[in-house]
Amino acid sequence: MPNCDVVIVGAGAIGNSIAYHLGKHGVDSVVVERESIGTRASGKAWAVIPYPQKSMAQAISRYLSGQDAGTAGTPEGPSASSWHDLVASSYDRMPGLALEIAERGGVDIEYGESLHTSLLTEAEVDGKGRDGWLVPYHQAGAIETGWLDARQLREVFPSLHPKWVAGITSPQGQVEPYKYTLGLAQSAEHLGARVKQGEAVGFTTQGDRITGLQLASGEHLEADNFVIAAGPWSRVLASYLDVDVPMLTLMAECTRVQLPSGLPFQTLEAGDYWIIPKVNGEVILSAYEGSASRRDDFNESLTEELKLKTVSECLEILPALEEAKLVEHRGDLLALSPASLERPTLGRLPTWKNGYLATHFGGTGIMMSPAAGELLAELIVTGRPPLRAAQMLAALTPPG
Ligand SMILES: Cc1cc2nc3c(=O)[nH]c(=O)nc-3n(C[C@H](O)[C@H](O)[C@H](O)COP(=O)(O)OP(=O)(O)OC[C@H]3O[C@@H](n4cnc5c(N)ncnc54)[C@H](O)[C@@H]3O)c2cc1C
Repeated sequence: MPNCDVVIVGAGAIGNSIAYHLGKHGVDSVVVERESIGTRASGKAWAVIPYPQKSMAQAISRYLSGQDAGTAGTPEGPSASSWHDLVASSYDRMPGLALEIAERGGVDIEYGESLHTSLLTEAEVDGKGRDGWLVPYHQAGAIETGWLDARQLREVFPSLHPKWVAGITSPQGQVEPYKYTLGLAQSAEHLGARVKQGEAVGFTTQGDRITGLQLASGEHLEADNFVIAAGPWSRVLASYLDVDVPMLTLMAECTRVQLPSGLPFQTLEAGDYWIIPKVNGEVILSAYEGSASRRDDFNESLTEELKLKTVSECLEILPALEEAKLVEHRGDLLALSPASLERPTLGRLPTWKNGYLATHFGGTGIMMSPAAGELLAELIVTGRPPLRAAQMLAALTPPG
């Protein structure tokens, strides 16, 4: 007799979301975690959930210019709308999920909805420079965006640097990442799942089926199905099943500060830097692209220079940050597919009838976790991809 229906390796946002959604189908799972719930990237993220207006605009732009919509970091294949579905349906699910987690898991995940403002320079307003490409999409009403002129911006942020003359706004959700990950786990437990401390070190198999998960303690967990949701370490886990999962491992960092008088609840994106006020009054200063460094050796040390550069760049954008005090500087490793930097891998493992993989969520795993968990649970329970997302899941399935 199996110990449970499904064994999931990794108690991050992805593994816990799968367990929670399996629980909603009445399916019992055991989530195996070698550290503790949400100790890795899932507990340290900025945890913003932007409405995917940029990926939509990129997809429209590529479609209109006759290019493959998949090459802008979206899944390969003709349909960019299916990528949009994964992101947008998670965005739409998060407010409801916050209520479910409060009720079932007893955790307030500090969900908040605010405006995200992409700041624009004079050149960008004229359609040139880094974010200028977005302006025509806003003007055509092709994406869900608003506009703030220089005066309106300064009504909200009086000390904003003069070089920013306008802003394109769009909706953005956010959560507290550790509370969210813990809340998902506790909600899953409420529905019958168990989170078990232990390190997965191998699998037992018979023919084309996985029969058990081997733990370092010597324990052996049997189940009908097995899911690898171990973030960057998924590659190691998959290698025990002779499946090669190419992995790019990046370190992303997050600097949290607190201001005595707080900041308006509105995110500012200025070039590579983001200033993100959180529901609890703290403010995250983050470097978007420069924040990630390649770490194939799983080195988790933080970069002091990056922290100092981020703080000084953000101070220039918004001098009001001068009063800020450092609360925390933290970071962790992200898993990305070298083939397509923003494309997750989600689906059945090649050659294994009852093995599944959920990884490569990069810098968007909190955002995508509601839909990813829901879809993988449905795939496991029904044995086939749901019709509404069949095309997308086909694009995200691990290559065989
Ligand atoms: C600084 C930073 C900012 C971010 N900002 C955002 C953001 O704003 N929005 C967003 O959507 N995403 C953001 N992310 C990305 C997001 O955090 C990740 O995509 C997401 O957390 C990945 O979740 P996961 O469950 O796949 O992996 P992880 O959180 O890495 O969880 C994997 C778990 O597997 C466990 N594990 C590994 N090997 C084993 C084993 N052998 N046995 C047992 N357990 C094992 C690990 O201990 C770990 O707990 C950010 C990340 C960072 C670091």
